[in-house]
Amino acid sequence: MKRIIFILTAAIFIASCGTQKKVSQLSNASDKMASILPDVKIPKASVSQIAADVAFLASDDLKGRDTGSEGILAAAKYLQNRLHEIGVQPYKGDFFDDFDAKGARAFNVVGMLPGTDGVLKNEIVVIGAHYDHIGFMKAVAGDSLANGANDNATGTASVLAIAQALKQIDFNRRTVVFALFSAEEKGLLGSKHLAKRMKAEKENVVAMLNFEMTGTPMVGREYIAYITGHDKSNMATVFNEANKDRVVTGKLAKAADFNLFMRSDNYPFYNEFQVPSQTFSTFDFTNFKYYHQPGDEITEVSAPHMAAVVDAVMPGIMAVINNERLKMMGNE
Ligand SMILES: [Zn+2]
Repeated sequence: MKRIIFILTAAIFIASCGTQKKVSQLSNASDKMASILPDVKIPKASVSQIAADVAFLASDDLKGRDTGSEGILAAAKYLQNRLHEIGVQPYKGDFFDDFDAKGARAFNVVGMLPGTDGVLKNEIVVIGAHYDHIGFMKAVAGDSLANGANDNATGTASVLAIAQALKQIDFNRRTVVFALFSAEEKGLLGSKHLAKRMKAEKENVVAMLNFEMTGTPMVGREYIAYITGHDKSNMATVFNEANKDRVVTGKLAKAADFNLFMRSDNYPFYNEFQVPSQTFSTFDFTNFKYYHQPGDEITEVSAPHMAAVVDAVMPGIMAVINNERLKMMGNE
């Protein structure tokens, strides 16, 4: 299986190299989205690449990617290679952002695409997902390995797909940081570390978009993914207005009931920077039975659905990294 994955990866990389597209006209930061988006052709996410990334991360070989384990080190190296082959730069010279996770050595894997606008490049949009999981647990039907396919190989593969698309489009006036976090399952430790580090280094983070559990379609909704903390910013409006083809996001009442806004890696960025920082997810509490169970395997998630989520959010991402400055609003 691994050999197939690497062959696939190489083929896709070669295919993407020749298709750089420059946008002819730069517009001012104050211009409306409409002035820029029609000129940009957004490539479709590759279903096979997303499937390959999830398959590697959720394979038994990686033993559930528990922080501090050998399995998660293999995952981190794989992600470093993927960001490198996509053509993303290491963040401040190093893809590995090391930290101590309650005594375990842990690493976020972080890349960046520097902004192209002389002024806006100083504003950073962080796009992230956690890649760690919980390792071994109490056996269910003889299986004690929690593979963490939906939680959160899916979000991780989505961030890679977004990085691939943005590198190919080659038009981001703001700087984009791709952050793949470790030790989320230990209490958001990776995202806390990076958010504090960026704050200490006086980085100007203007928004954080996080991806969690995007492996299964929502049931009975017109939108494809909800965002946590829906009413805290105008993010939902911006994403829905940017995509002319479909409703991207909406408000899931249960997300507020369970306070999901505070329960993933968006939250430390909100805490440090007080800017719109929210999580996209399609886990609606009814469409996936294996949350933190050994049954969270690749057979239970859909790569075409994940690709559709990426395709749906890309126009909004283009708006956020080029034109629209997201705003905080009321409370959830
Ligand atoms: Zn998760």
